[in-house]
Amino acid sequence: MTTEQIQNFQGKYPKQIWSLFFSEMWERFCFYGMRGMLVFFMISQLKFQEEQANLQYGATQAFVYAFTFIGGLFADKILGFRKSLFWGGLLMIVGSLILATDPHRFFFLGIAFTVVGTGFFKPNISSMVGQLYKPNDPRADAGFSLFYAGINLGALLGGYFCIAIGKGEMFSNLIPEGLRWNVAFGLAAVVMVISLINFVFTQKSLGQIGLQPGHPDAEVKSAPIMKWKEYGVYALSLVFVPLIMTMVSVPEYTDYFMWIVGPATLLYLFYEMTKVTAAERKKLWAALVFIIFSIIFWGIYEQSGGSMSIFAAKNLNKDLLGLDPNGVNNSGGAFFVLLAAVPIGLLWIWLNKRKLEPNTLIKFGLGFIFLALGFYTLYTTKFFANEGGITSLRFFTVALFVITLGELCLSPIGLSIMTKLSTKNLQGMMMGMWFLASAYGQYVAGIIGAHMATAKEGSSNLDALLAYAEGYKQLAIYALVAGIILIIISPLVKKLMQEVR
Ligand code: GLN
Repeated sequence: MTTEQIQNFQGKYPKQIWSLFFSEMWERFCFYGMRGMLVFFMISQLKFQEEQANLQYGATQAFVYAFTFIGGLFADKILGFRKSLFWGGLLMIVGSLILATDPHRFFFLGIAFTVVGTGFFKPNISSMVGQLYKPNDPRADAGFSLFYAGINLGALLGGYFCIAIGKGEMFSNLIPEGLRWNVAFGLAAVVMVISLINFVFTQKSLGQIGLQPGHPDAEVKSAPIMKWKEYGVYALSLVFVPLIMTMVSVPEYTDYFMWIVGPATLLYLFYEMTKVTAAERKKLWAALVFIIFSIIFWGIYEQSGGSMSIFAAKNLNKDLLGLDPNGVNNSGGAFFVLLAAVPIGLLWIWLNKRKLEPNTLIKFGLGFIFLALGFYTLYTTKFFANEGGITSLRFFTVALFVITLGELCLSPIGLSIMTKLSTKNLQGMMMGMWFLASAYGQYVAGIIGAHMATAKEGSSNLDALLAYAEGYKQLAIYALVAGIILIIISPLVKKLMQEVR
């Protein structure tokens, strides 16, 4: 099948999207399963101090998303999307198997493999989704929304099962106590194997999509890639493993790394920009604007892993079906994505038919407005607090829902617009940059969270609640300002985007 034939599909979704949906779902199961165990495992099993565990968790998150840039870059230049994905998946399996064998002894080794593997897997599967669509197919955003539901289904299941098994809350009568963590990490390996097997079968239906540059059937014709270059990439990625192990173990290194990597990737992008036509260059500038705004978005959004989890633990009651506030905070977002992603995607198609669909800039703007509303709702929880500083989980959950609506206007749409604005030979790299931005978002989120934590130090629970509420109001204002700035600069960005909407 040619790409043209794939892209001329009838109906709402191309059929290949389902295979990519499932591969990504299992990959996210593995990723979020592992991520969900990290801090708990470091504190309870490796006996790390809480602060150290949190710092190392932050470092891992930063490196994971930083490696998406490298994974995307090598996919464009040498491996192609399919081989990159496969190689990344293999590394993730190795990482999980190492952890399953002896998580106490080989913890950071296993994590480092997973970090590099995710870098090769994550951006490239998203790029392949983009290639199922013609550049201006109005159905693409709905496709990415569906794909995003798959991401969150994997996140929800992995995030729940792995840690529950590790802690012994599940299957404890089947698994001997000393082996619980091995089985939990082993589960991550098993689902990753399923992801790759599923992908092997998917490949047949992908036609020319994701072939290695220089492959005789590839859409863009070029000289074949020399084998030593391909093996060189594999070897190089293995060299990164011990490097990451060292970097993760010393928190300051993360700071240096973050200060160097961002500017370096920007410089590299500017260099690549000199090699494209003026029209293509404008589109890359537009992509960069979206990337920068996404840093602000994730910086605010990612409070969920930091300050909001402390808020949930200390300041919320159980007035929502008796659910545990931290459980709601951890999985509420993914749950709401599952509920709303597909309807919102279909809404875009429905609006498009009536010539009412907002363009990407407006969708991003809406993303910020919902984010602002959500954080404002978090602020208002203070009006329902008792004198012990305990407030309503129901309100908190409403806030989560509104924040998730914002996420759905920005995150899948961002994936989609990256594939539309990048030139054919820079797709992987730009997708990598999109995810790199979330590494910076996480980084910023950590800094904001730390500031909010110092503001409430040594105070009563009620004072702590008031301090957090004040912080969330500030974040709501920032989100609103970002949304307004986006609207103000939208005519300029529209010009840069040209025919892309
Ligand atoms: N939750 C989404 C995912 O796992 C978005 C991640 C991100 O861009 N920060 O793909």
